[in-house]
Amino acid sequence: MVAILIFFFTHWFLSLFFHTFFLHRYASHQMYTTSKRTERVFYLLTWLTQGSSFLNPRAYAVMHRMHHVHSDTEQDPHSPHFFKDVMGMMVHTKNIYHAFLSGEKMPDPQFTKDYLPTWPKLDKIADSMTVRVLFTLAYTSFYIYFAPPNYWLFLLLPIHFLMGPVQGAIVNWCGHKYGYANYKNGDHSKNSEPFGLLLLGELFQNNHHKQGTNPNFARKWFELDPTFQVMKVLHLLRIIRLKPVAINDNVTAPGITVQHSHGKSHSHHATARSREVTHSN
Ligand SMILES: [Zn+2]
Ligand SMILES: [Zn+2]
Repeated sequence: MVAILIFFFTHWFLSLFFHTFFLHRYASHQMYTTSKRTERVFYLLTWLTQGSSFLNPRAYAVMHRMHHVHSDTEQDPHSPHFFKDVMGMMVHTKNIYHAFLSGEKMPDPQFTKDYLPTWPKLDKIADSMTVRVLFTLAYTSFYIYFAPPNYWLFLLLPIHFLMGPVQGAIVNWCGHKYGYANYKNGDHSKNSEPFGLLLLGELFQNNHHKQGTNPNFARKWFELDPTFQVMKVLHLLRIIRLKPVAINDNVTAPGITVQHSHGKSHSHHATARSREVTHSN
């Protein structure tokens, strides 16, 4: 029982850490820079920790950039406000993800013009069905060895198999539906405490949508973003270099065309903070 719980939480937090630290904060938002070699180490660790549910960093990043620009509008790949349940939202998200991955659908160029980490050789291995199945067999073997006589623990296995999407579903659903808001972002993003800690800062969606390039998702004294604390240490160790944060909304990152909810679109230099700049109404 103890071994299973340790395995479960280790897998949960390691996979989540690379989800937020590498896929979200690096691949999507470029909150820090690092050497090519270190990038590859992070890429590899993201695969090893996500295992059977590895999410391709490029496809993830493109979809996530879409999410920020179109947050809670119909073009948002995963707004909970357009689906009656979380399953419907995740199936829709999965379809867009696979269309980008297979090349069946080409993303709008505004979402690919900023840097995107790729590693085609590793992607090929990580995305192969054989490798994904081998990961699920490894998780299952661990359970077969350590779970009996507590057979109910096997109910946790599907979470291991789908770790990345499960965590994504919680963040996308709860983070845009439940909780409090520090800012008016023109969308439904929320800070869903007290779960921020369990999701390593990812559930401060309201703060994050206010300032998409700020590596610290916490704002108030009672909020804590554990991933940012780790990033500060990695910065001090010079493993990564955090970019100076543009606090002023007009100081911006490389351009993205922003689609406003009132239909007009124009180009300005912001990846994610765009909404509150334009939605003061
Ligand atoms: Zn969001
Ligand atoms: Zn984001």
